[in-house]
Amino acid sequence: MTWTGNGGRTSTAAHRQRRRRVLERDNHQCQIRGPKCIGTATECDHIINVKAFGNQPELAESDENCRAVCNPCHANKSALEGVQARAKRRAKLKLPVQKHPGLR
Ligand SMILES: [Zn+2]
Repeated sequence: MTWTGNGGRTSTAAHRQRRRRVLERDNHQCQIRGPKCIGTATECDHIINVKAFGNQPELAESDENCRAVCNPCHANKSALEGVQARAKRRAKLKLPVQKHPGLR
């Protein structure tokens, strides 16, 4: 994923500054540590996906919601999110809406 893939917005000075802040805060160490991790973080990842914020995507753009990650982990996470999103959509289609028995 690149910044330009982020809602069609191009990388701004604010983006670049936050990325540098986040990388420095996390000591340029990858915070995911996945199976293909190379250790040294060069990218900035949204912990909670921007899409999860719905019509307030700017809320995702905070230092708190960002962490330093390496390129392989970031790529792996993006791929996983794609799979999960597809599985979610499938589950939604298949399962009828049921009233939750646990709710009073
Ligand atoms: Zn990593």
